[in-house]
Amino acid sequence: MYQFIQDQHHYVLSVDNHVSLMEALTAFCKDQNILSGTIGGLGAINEATFRFLDPATKQYVDKTFSEQMEITNLTGNISEKDGKPYLHVHITASRRDYTCVGGHLLDAKISGACELTVDAFPELKPGRRADEETGLNLYRF
Ligand code: FE
Repeated sequence: MYQFIQDQHHYVLSVDNHVSLMEALTAFCKDQNILSGTIGGLGAINEATFRFLDPATKQYVDKTFSEQMEITNLTGNISEKDGKPYLHVHITASRRDYTCVGGHLLDAKISGACELTVDAFPELKPGRRADEETGLNLYRF
């Protein structure tokens, strides 16, 4: 599903082709017991579902893009919710015509390669709590 190398709390990951990006990233965090940190990455995907939260209605709007795209930026953070890694990941991806789409990443299927870095912060323990006003799972320090 993925391969990685590591220097203390710094990781370099390669997610296998045709694999679900979020499945691999979640499995990696669970396997390494990472509950705090940052994620960065790039790669290529061909099936991606992004999410937009409408603040007026607090309703999520999801959209799937079934086409070959480059991950021009992937940025995220890792915190802890209910004792498990909670991944918050945003993405921008470019299409064949060089236009970009982006949003909150629900999932994407790797189509080529996906290269990620994860920096873990074992001494920091950000948690999450559901916030009624925004409809978001906000940091709990
Ligand atoms: Fe988000």
